[in-house]
Amino acid sequence: MIPETFAETKRYFLCPHCGKGKMFYSHLKVLDTFGPWHCDDCGCAVTGRITETGLEIEKHPERIVKTTEILRLEPAEPVVLLVEGMRFVDGKYASKTEDDEVGSKTFFYEENRSHLNTLHEVKGFITRGEVGEPFDLVKYVGYVDEPATEEQILEKYRRNT
Ligand SMILES: [Zn+2]
Repeated sequence: MIPETFAETKRYFLCPHCGKGKMFYSHLKVLDTFGPWHCDDCGCAVTGRITETGLEIEKHPERIVKTTEILRLEPAEPVVLLVEGMRFVDGKYASKTEDDEVGSKTFFYEENRSHLNTLHEVKGFITRGEVGEPFDLVKYVGYVDEPATEEQILEKYRRNT
């Protein structure tokens, strides 16, 4: 079959500080205000509002620098992650039994996939026997400004622990 198609226009404005960073504003309605938003390229701040004819923006002097934050996991007990997943129910990819499904997911999560990708999808934890947030799980160690090398990150980690 041939599906119905459509095109979607996304609206951006360029950072008034550097002229390079693109700021996305299609999701805003007339009279909405926004910001401060910080440019991905130069880190400078912009606020603004959507008008009947377009938008008005204002530059601000403050700026952000991207950092890598160093956090150390110090679990008192195993950390249980709840991750959004999926499974096939009909058609040729559906598992015949729960054991088959668990087998393929075990391979997927333990061997096939980067843990970093899995961590991006964490939607909750089990802690102290309940679904919740373990506030005492992470200890703050320090930060390094980006762009940071592995050596700079390790040096800061060693110095602060
Ligand atoms: Zn910029």
